[in-house]
Amino acid sequence: MNIQQVIDDISADVRARLPEMAGEVASYIPALAEVEGEQFAMAVHTVDGQSYVSGDSEQNFSIQSVSKVLTLTLALQRYGDTLWQRVGKEPSGTAFNSLTQLEFEQGIPRNPFINAGAIVTCDALYSRLSAPTHHMLATVRQLSGNPRININQRVSRSEYQHRHRNAAMAYLMASFNNFENEVEEVLKVYFGFCAIEMNCAELARTFSYLANRGVDVASKRRILAAKQNSQLNSLLFTSGLYDAAGDFAYRVGMPGKSGVGGAIIGVVPGKFTVAVWSPKLNEYGNSSAGIYALEQFADRLKLQLF
Ligand code: GLN
Repeated sequence: MNIQQVIDDISADVRARLPEMAGEVASYIPALAEVEGEQFAMAVHTVDGQSYVSGDSEQNFSIQSVSKVLTLTLALQRYGDTLWQRVGKEPSGTAFNSLTQLEFEQGIPRNPFINAGAIVTCDALYSRLSAPTHHMLATVRQLSGNPRININQRVSRSEYQHRHRNAAMAYLMASFNNFENEVEEVLKVYFGFCAIEMNCAELARTFSYLANRGVDVASKRRILAAKQNSQLNSLLFTSGLYDAAGDFAYRVGMPGKSGVGGAIIGVVPGKFTVAVWSPKLNEYGNSSAGIYALEQFADRLKLQLF
């Protein structure tokens, strides 16, 4: 089936439904509350390097928690399996910004995709890299193919100003000795990663390695060992959409990662990475239209893994 035709059909369908679609743009980060909600883009990047895009494809957005996949990738490159001493591999069943489990589980977050898990993974990276932000930007620029990718400093600052919950998690982990660096410095790095901006086609291309056994499609550079890449996809399947991971697995049936900027990536191993973006979020902090679009896409192309 023609991928361009499928994503154009889905874009037209979503656009017609957007005014009625439930959801609100993220408002707990003031700089994100200003984003116009009724936007939609979708892109596919295949393992043989083809790129397809539809909708508001020129719009840049904040990748937010989708950055946690890159943070984990960079940490796995440096730590391998020893990273799992600091962070777990289990679905949390709680919201992305929940604090409660940390108290009962000795400051070890359930997985690297909830905020606490991503912050501790940032801390681990911080210990091994002299300039983590510089390194992350160099990686994203290479993977996306766009040397101008950058952090939106306004968004990053806005997150830092409203950091109370994330700071509480980080200090709680520090109280359990699961923190190695200055909390405030690590938080700044974490918010910078979340505030990286790109468009939908760049997002699909950035994560091409996830569908390609750990090898970046454009540069043929190995990003992760094949086994690590498959493990990362497994974790995305079980935890990439927080406490809605089960619903996403049921409706879409592929590994995925969402962010409160409204982006979601999905991985079809051996075929392609798909990215969607639409800023109105459901009660779990995942893009309502994004999930709908991925469900249509998986149905039309019969992509469910099982
Ligand atoms: N930067 C956001 C936060 O820390 C990321 C959350 C998300 O995208 N789910 O709250």
